[in-house]
Amino acid sequence: MQISTNTVVSIDYVLTNAEGDEIDRSQAGEPLAYLHGVGNLIPGLEQALEGHTTGDSLQVEVAPAEGYGEHDHELVQVVSRDLFQEPDRLEPGMRFEASGDQGQMVVTVTEVSDNGVTIDGNHPLAGQTLHFDVTVAAVRAATDEEVAHGHVHA
Ligand code: ZN
Repeated sequence: MQISTNTVVSIDYVLTNAEGDEIDRSQAGEPLAYLHGVGNLIPGLEQALEGHTTGDSLQVEVAPAEGYGEHDHELVQVVSRDLFQEPDRLEPGMRFEASGDQGQMVVTVTEVSDNGVTIDGNHPLAGQTLHFDVTVAAVRAATDEEVAHGHVHA
């Protein structure tokens, strides 16, 4: 069966950044299963998989615009330490849920100083060109319920 909208696709993958550093990979024997064609994967990867079938291996380069978006400087701001419950424990790399103009978002602390805390609302992979090594492990038709829900059922 070919990968098309409303198929359930299982993929083994390794994700590396432009420098070749590994960012993420599926666990051995536990491929990632997703419902194809409904935006559950980043667009660049989903488009590349379209039409492939079980056993196919492909290397996919995804530009930021087709991945997690460009880095938006508007989403970087310096806020008061008082906004945090335990300001003395703040460290770069910590992530928090915050509510802002665009609703709930996850922010990453990028710098901590006496004057304030720099937080970045961009996705950690925003602005990065991503490289996927993907092998299609399985393709099947989605059930009516999976299509209705927009996700895969175990
Ligand atoms: Zn469901």
